Amino acid sequence: MTERVHFELVARDQATRARAGLLHTPHGVVETPAFMPVGTAGTVKGMTQDELERLGVQMLLANTYHLYLRPGHETIRELGGLHRFMSWPHPILTDSGGFQVMSLKSLGRVTEDGIWFRSHLDGSSHFLSPERAVEIQWALGADIIMTLDECVEYPSSHETLQRAVRLTGRWARRAKEFHEAQVSGGRFQVSGQLEMQPQSQSAAPSPQSPAPSPGFSAPTPDSLLATPALFGIVQGGVDKGLRRESAEEIMELGFAGYAIGGLSVGEPKAEMYELAEYTADLLPAHLPRYLMGVGTPADLAECVARGVDLFDCVMPTRHARNASVFTSEGNLVLKNARYARDPSPLDPACPCAVCRRYSRSYLRHLSVAGEMLAAILATHHNLYFYLDTMRKIRQSVFCGRFAEFCSRVRTQP
Ligand SMILES: [Zn+2]
Repeated sequence: MTERVHFELVARDQATRARAGLLHTPHGVVETPAFMPVGTAGTVKGMTQDELERLGVQMLLANTYHLYLRPGHETIRELGGLHRFMSWPHPILTDSGGFQVMSLKSLGRVTEDGIWFRSHLDGSSHFLSPERAVEIQWALGADIIMTLDECVEYPSSHETLQRAVRLTGRWARRAKEFHEAQVSGGRFQVSGQLEMQPQSQSAAPSPQSPAPSPGFSAPTPDSLLATPALFGIVQGGVDKGLRRESAEEIMELGFAGYAIGGLSVGEPKAEMYELAEYTADLLPAHLPRYLMGVGTPADLAECVARGVDLFDCVMPTRHARNASVFTSEGNLVLKNARYARDPSPLDPACPCAVCRRYSRSYLRHLSVAGEMLAAILATHHNLYFYLDTMRKIRQSVFCGRFAEFCSRVRTQP
């Protein structure tokens, strides 16, 4: 079985490092640069899949940690994989689960073998190894899957960053070897001893985490179709020497694409841009580059200018649920009293369905009254704004006006 994910560069900007490409996956083509909305638990909160399609979403990110705990990756596999389960026949990327474990503070401890953690749902104990993270993502059936890495907080000492870089490298090797074994047909003998450990040491066995399977059962036609592509992750914080060391080690292993991890974790924006550019420059030009967890619409433009192709961020959806919307005139906080009698749309320059139909005063009323429609409409607008920003970025790369687009974005409030 061959990997069906491949990347095609179709345009480069002359003045910056920006590029436009086509990311071919088993479930369709993604035009890059692209923004992936975050569908944490198999749903982009508040949006139906129909609506996501109408918004022009080409690829979703789903969180392995959440789907593993509930409803369980085996359940999703039995139901034909995540695409079928959530009725999203388009590309999906899953993360390794590691970042969630660390960011939800449910972290038990990081060992050479993997990460012990407690479920935020019921406190049950679980173990995520590099192999296990790949196995779970194969069961989910995403088009692109990620290696387990260790992302440390900002600021961290050189020693901490170095330890995380080297552990990330060793884990990447194990993930790659395990993934290769699945690709070459060895995927019927998986689940080694590592997966048995959490069961024996778990104080409270979780109903959401069934005993590890002796092996995968026969794959469904969908999962046969979708041999996932594995992306490696470069760590190293804001230390250029460690970024280089990490990039060289990960590239030597060879992945279908490369992610820049460990940024947007609290470092100053100028450093984030600088390290994104520095790291992107180290990566192969012919493969996709994915900057994890970034950022604002302006960040997208700035990082495309530095050679990044793929982004994901909870910002448009999370901000929407907190009644904060992105507009061409800057951020707008819906609950602000000054919108109580404002008949204008959220963003007069936005042609989205929400801006065409509803006023700021109505949206503010919904928000103050705690109506669920407030979050739904704000999410629709914010996603439209992000996707539209990406479409404009891509078009400007094609017509040689990207630098001009960037300078316009920089002068926006
Ligand atoms: Zn709008």
